Amino acid sequence: MKAKHERFLKELLETPSPTGYEVPVADAVRARLAGTADEVRTDVMGSVHALLSGKGGGPSFMLAAHMDEIGLMVTYISDDGFLSVAPIGGLDAAILPGLRVDVHAASGTLRGVVGRKPIHLIKADERKSVTPIDQLVIDLGLPGKEVKKLVSVGDAITFGVGFERFGKHMAVSRAFDDKVGVWIAVRVLERLAKKGRAAGDFIAAATVQEEIGTRGATTSAYGVNPDVAVAFDVTHATDYPGIDKTKHGDIACGGGPVIARGPNINPLVFERLVAAAKKEGIPYQIEAEPSVTGTDARAIQVARGGIPCGLVSVPLRYMHTPTEVVCLKDLEATVNLLVRFALDLDETACFVPGVGAAPSCVVPEDDEPEDTGLFDARPADDDVEEDAEAEAPGTQDAAEADGPDAEDVPAAEPQPDAEADAPANGDAPDGEPASGDQPADDDAAWLFAPKDMKDKE
Ligand SMILES: [Zn+2]
Repeated sequence: MKAKHERFLKELLETPSPTGYEVPVADAVRARLAGTADEVRTDVMGSVHALLSGKGGGPSFMLAAHMDEIGLMVTYISDDGFLSVAPIGGLDAAILPGLRVDVHAASGTLRGVVGRKPIHLIKADERKSVTPIDQLVIDLGLPGKEVKKLVSVGDAITFGVGFERFGKHMAVSRAFDDKVGVWIAVRVLERLAKKGRAAGDFIAAATVQEEIGTRGATTSAYGVNPDVAVAFDVTHATDYPGIDKTKHGDIACGGGPVIARGPNINPLVFERLVAAAKKEGIPYQIEAEPSVTGTDARAIQVARGGIPCGLVSVPLRYMHTPTEVVCLKDLEATVNLLVRFALDLDETACFVPGVGAAPSCVVPEDDEPEDTGLFDARPADDDVEEDAEAEAPGTQDAAEADGPDAEDVPAAEPQPDAEADAPANGDAPDGEPASGDQPADDDAAWLFAPKDMKDKE
């Protein structure tokens, strides 16, 4: 990964964006794409949509990734200045004691710590128990009066840790879920601009509020109204001790992008993603999703009259903890996969199951629905191609700018045919709640169970 791209990844990861408080990271996305995208719009939810116009004659393609991260919210401030909190998104109370946190107050960011009584002072049986989140408190090291002046109920809190590389090609951060996806969407747009654009419009969508029920993707899918979409999110790596591969599949960090298969995924989008990986020699992994996923794909697929949607992920260890781990090689490979997918979309692309064929089928012009998407109003003459990454010589990054874009694609052989390798995804294991029995969307219990929680069940 080029240093300038890694700096942007670090910026995204370290910019706080707990669900509902995504503005700082949205600012970073807008700033990064201002010179490359033809148009950048932000909807009233706060989701950012960056358009790279197509050369003409292809379907519009939205790549959606959510920019919110999990966190905590201040619910109560005691007279002596300790904060009580509630989780934003799916948060395991066991990881909190001993953690440093950032409290994002109007007056600025304050360091806090989640304390736990020392081992010497607790009874033996208490040592085994997990303190529920509503019984934990955050210590700001300030007098009560001052805390009440600085902090407000409703202020958001994030884990007080940043991005760091470690091991071989590995990196750790609190918020790869899913700001790694925002990075990928931005990089795909930049690469498409550099490669002379796809036939159809490309929209990089950085969505809000995924962690509490794919809410931003719901409005983005409606507003952008793309012809085809891919949601990008992280998925559970199963390559460390204690994870049952028979239940969760065989997904390894460094094994390449993960392409999901199942009813939440348009089968022709799936086939095109696999074809793109094979064409580029990108190793990939297949993930069985026998029911609706908890990702943005859940909302996008059933928007309007239905939008053909795929789901691509990178494997991630220790989801929703301060030490989420990814392999950086998977990120680069995913960008290459999605760029190839976008470039291979042409006017013959058809995604109707049983009618469309991968890679192509002809859609009679009369049948094309009227596009009422967000970007219809743009002038016709703004299709000017630009080299988005051109930089003046002598800048810090100039040397890198000349290198090939695909330098870090893992060299491993692609996996055999998807069909042969895909785990059977039709049958839920006995005793498991049938995933098709999820309550309807308006059931709050389901809405607030993010993908990861659901997947753990
Ligand atoms: Zn998540």
